Amino acid sequence: MKENSVLANIYENICRDTGRKNESSKLIVVLRLLIISMAVYSLINCVLIAFTRHIGGLILSVASLVLFILAFVCSYYWSSFTSYCALNIYVLAWSIANVIFFGWNIGVQHFIFTLLVFCFFAKYKHEKAKIIYTLCLLVLRIYLYYYCRDHAAVVALTADISNALQMINTCFVFLSLALTAYIFSADSQELEGKLIEYNRQLMKQANTDTLTGLYNRRSTMEYLDDLLNNPDNQISICLCDIDFFKHVNDTYGHDVGDVVLKKISETFRKELPPDSFISRWGGEEFLLIFPKLNGDDAVIALENLRQKIKAIVFDGVIETFTVSLTYGLVEYDYHSDMTTILKEADEKLYLGKESGRDRIIF
Ligand code: GH3
Ligand code: MG
Ligand code: MG
Repeated sequence: MKENSVLANIYENICRDTGRKNESSKLIVVLRLLIISMAVYSLINCVLIAFTRHIGGLILSVASLVLFILAFVCSYYWSSFTSYCALNIYVLAWSIANVIFFGWNIGVQHFIFTLLVFCFFAKYKHEKAKIIYTLCLLVLRIYLYYYCRDHAAVVALTADISNALQMINTCFVFLSLALTAYIFSADSQELEGKLIEYNRQLMKQANTDTLTGLYNRRSTMEYLDDLLNNPDNQISICLCDIDFFKHVNDTYGHDVGDVVLKKISETFRKELPPDSFISRWGGEEFLLIFPKLNGDDAVIALENLRQKIKAIVFDGVIETFTVSLTYGLVEYDYHSDMTTILKEADEKLYLGKESGRDRIIF
């Protein structure tokens, strides 16, 4: 429990902001983690170099460690950009000094790759500067290689220590690269996920009616246009309208009217075949599209719906009541256009209203 709170404390401190406004804490967190990994590496380096009893080498290792600790402390006071620049300068100087002192074989030059990756992930928009910096790092690395070929290391390390440092270096460089890539890519993946979800919600809002959750007129016209242009089955289209809905509103209130609209929409979803396209065409009018039903099958589906809706008992506070709908059904003839079909469905609906309501006209 106590261990947990100590770890949580350390983590919280690493994640702390720079104290400056308008700065993302992401960059500074990655920076601190890099400094910590390099400081731990320097500490191990100190211990191993101590075995060589080379005073110059030991002073370099201890100084590196102290400077990394200082850099860590400074990261809480400087701006992210200052810390970022300072770390770059420091790691470059540190790599060069280590290569000169301990030779190419211990692999400190690999830390230059960390700077390269870090430079491209950091969200500063100086693209040209980044490319120039990359070229400089490349030239430096090649120069160090040739320098080491022509000059012996200042501190002659035994093969064991050299190999141990090479292994430790490899591990720390991998760790630093993985940390940088993980933290920055997690950020962009999260952002991408949020954007996809946001777009999905926007699309949904643009295509649906807020009260009933059914498709709205705009998205229905798009769907119907597409369906009529590429029919792969018999299609039936039904325009239906709640009977005497004005009376419902006038008698029981607008809120109760809304409850009726929602409940009827719910019943559509529940009772109609799963591939039906159900939309609120406007007010108390609905357009139902059956992309795989001929007229006769659609009549059967609508008759079941008609009875289910009539059986719903609504609470009108002063009394309970029921509602019915009138349905105008058309079967697509494979050549009429959308306007003609909708006009035909509307005429049948009107006929149903005229002849007594609560019926399906096909
Ligand atoms: P008919 O049987 O001939 O269709 O008669 P009706 O009363 O249903 O038709 P009318 O066109 O006279 O009235 C429709 C009513 O629907 C009037 C309008 O206030 C109501 N209405 C439209 N949209 C909504 C809504 O979102 N909520 C509520 N509560 N009422 C609505
Ligand atoms: Mg009506
Ligand atoms: Mg109406």
